[in-house]
Amino acid sequence: MIVILKGNTTPESVDSLVGNLKSFGLDVHISRGNLHTVLGLIGDTGKIDIDQIKMLNFVEDVKRIQEPYKNANRKFHPDDSIIRVGDAQIGGKTMTVIAGPCSVESEEQIITVARAVKASGAQLLRGGAFKPRTSPYAFQGLREEGIKLLLKAKKDTGLPIVTEIMDLSQLELFNEVDVIQVGARNMQNFELLKQLGHTQKPILLKRGLANTYQELLMSAEYIMAFGNENVILCERGVRTFESYTRNTLDISAVPVLKKLSHLPVIVDPSHAVGIAEFVPPLAMAAISAGAAGLLIEVHNNPACARCDGMQSLTPEKFATLMRRLKKLETALLED
Ligand code: PEP
Ligand code: MN
Repeated sequence: MIVILKGNTTPESVDSLVGNLKSFGLDVHISRGNLHTVLGLIGDTGKIDIDQIKMLNFVEDVKRIQEPYKNANRKFHPDDSIIRVGDAQIGGKTMTVIAGPCSVESEEQIITVARAVKASGAQLLRGGAFKPRTSPYAFQGLREEGIKLLLKAKKDTGLPIVTEIMDLSQLELFNEVDVIQVGARNMQNFELLKQLGHTQKPILLKRGLANTYQELLMSAEYIMAFGNENVILCERGVRTFESYTRNTLDISAVPVLKKLSHLPVIVDPSHAVGIAEFVPPLAMAAISAGAAGLLIEVHNNPACARCDGMQSLTPEKFATLMRRLKKLETALLED
């Protein structure tokens, strides 16, 4: 249920209504927008008398929310959420690009790529330390050492770092990581999501290979229900009958998720298409569709990459793409 308050409601009236609602055992989420304050009620609202609340002179409207996701719901929080990470921000009108190699392979590799993507305008560095691979015989990532190397690259370039967690037992290694990624395969690992909900770290939550928008939003809700509102949604392609590309980028996810939720929506064209030459057009399409940002794989020597070389851009191709994206962003901002 949401209670929409009139623009001129005094803080005392807000406090007294919130206190009253909490006495029914409800959690109250307060969103202060430019025009209205919205109270989002979480819990069993069956005992609430809607008419009695509507009678208050500072209440504009009261509505029941049908969707099972509450905290993630746009109705709870009409304005876009903006997540701040160091000097970067994800969400709002400007585009944020997260770039880096699929996996951290060596100090030289990660520092070279970090410097290159920074020079082209990327705001965050991403690299995998723990890698979810389809084959147990494939390179599994440098693990703890990989995180140490990412921290060195952060120190060298100043870029905040993003890396994937695969299991709760790894959480203590993530203290200095700026954004924790939950990969497609773990999108419904609910115990992991709950524990990440107890942190205040921004969580980059990727859509599962065959999960619906509502399932993605329910996974975000798991994190938010435990107190962490810093969730970034990521569309990374879904499994379809098409086998030419690695997955099929579901561009509809961008406007639909933005309608349903206030959380920032970014797109990963690299894992969606799986082939480097098609990454730039999909990246442009994602920004045109309204994505708040992109996650792009870049490798200094894709042919020798230990993971996902086929879909990785060279630093030069990445620089060209960034120039085109900036022009697109300027055109969209002028609109
Ligand atoms: C990744 O981002 O490196 C990755 C493994 O992606 P996904 O979880 O989307 O498959
Ligand atoms: Mn990858």
